[in-house]
Amino acid sequence: MHIDIITCLPRLIESPFSDSILKRAQAKGLVEINIIDLRTYATDKHKSVDDYAYGGGAGMVMMIEPIDRCLEELKLKRDYDDIIYMSPDGERLTQSIANELSLKKNLVLLCGHYKGVDERVRQHLITRELSIGDYVLSGGELPAAVVADAVIRLIPGVLSDETSALSDSFQDGLIAPPVYTRPAAYKGWEVPSVLLSGHEKKIEDWRHEKALERTRSRRPHLLDGE
Ligand code: SAH
Repeated sequence: MHIDIITCLPRLIESPFSDSILKRAQAKGLVEINIIDLRTYATDKHKSVDDYAYGGGAGMVMMIEPIDRCLEELKLKRDYDDIIYMSPDGERLTQSIANELSLKKNLVLLCGHYKGVDERVRQHLITRELSIGDYVLSGGELPAAVVADAVIRLIPGVLSDETSALSDSFQDGLIAPPVYTRPAAYKGWEVPSVLLSGHEKKIEDWRHEKALERTRSRRPHLLDGE
């Protein structure tokens, strides 16, 4: 998989990809992350990527021209499955969207800043909009990192124990059951004895029961098949 991330603040998005699972995924050649500085595509000597809003009002708006020039150049090299603009009013990211995106080959994630991008970018240059929730952040960099992380960890071979992505919350329509590690007792707080029993079937049943219980209390809509 190849992911191009377009941003006017590249440093804001570098660190999530320079450590741990996302770093290893790149080292193994399972994903290629390319962070692109939008200012490279600015057309004036000040490297401007934003300007005042027509009609007035507070806040700058990201201009269409640098974004278009950047996308035109990218599209010469690859066919993109999706060009995604990160936007608080976009389609809300879910595990099933992450699953769907993990099967794609080439993606662009476009990060907005300031007041967002010129509306014509949204109308003509992108294929999809994703939000990471109903709240407003200062830029699309953290949301793009969230989307990329949720997607990349699903690519086969990225997690060392492949089954672990499958047993995560939401993946099978249930919230994950509680997990424990050593010590078996701490300050009198004990690990459920079934987990120490070595009895695989009983452990599996217990985990399923707890997953159901947790789903019922925390995300009951998952059980309605929503
Ligand atoms: N004025 C806009 C918000 C702009 S926030 C509005 O009211 O809708 C600046 C940028 O941050 C956006 O262009 C977007 O790329 C990003 N952003 C902010 N919150 C986000 C969220 N919840 N999900 C995805 N992107 C978000």
